[in-house]
Amino acid sequence: MPAGSCHCGAVTFQVAAEIVELTTCDCSLCVKKNAVMAKVHESALTITAGEDLLSLYQWNTRRARHYFCSRCGVYTFHRKRAAPDHYGVNVFCLDGFDASAVPVRATEGVGMSVVETGARAQWPARASPKGRSESAPRSAASGSSGWSRSPSRCAGSPRR
Ligand SMILES: [Zn+2]
Repeated sequence: MPAGSCHCGAVTFQVAAEIVELTTCDCSLCVKKNAVMAKVHESALTITAGEDLLSLYQWNTRRARHYFCSRCGVYTFHRKRAAPDHYGVNVFCLDGFDASAVPVRATEGVGMSVVETGARAQWPARASPKGRSESAPRSAASGSSGWSRSPSRCAGSPRR
């Protein structure tokens, strides 16, 4: 049962789960965080101190909830967009955790849907810029995006 913390120690948490796989993600946020994550069900993550110091960052669909310590800025964990009942935990925050002993799977986040502010209400536009109107909208029901194959994707998913 690994314990974890941010850098300054204000935020501490415990993970009551065996970590058998790590993931990386190539979405624009995870790349900048250089994040290596473990997927943990919400029931297995307990914040033991500093919950009031966590800051929340949301972007794109604003479905995922990316938390970080407001004091030291370290990303601790986030609620996943594709699996909102799960957290992605920053494994480098876990005390004594040997990330090199666990297989790492690279997940694709960069290809996930990105919401353009205000676009959806008007789409398809009669003459949308940059030829966007030529690509037919993909319905979530068609499954053509294939996002559901990778539940560990961090950046998001269509609403279920
Ligand atoms: Zn901190």
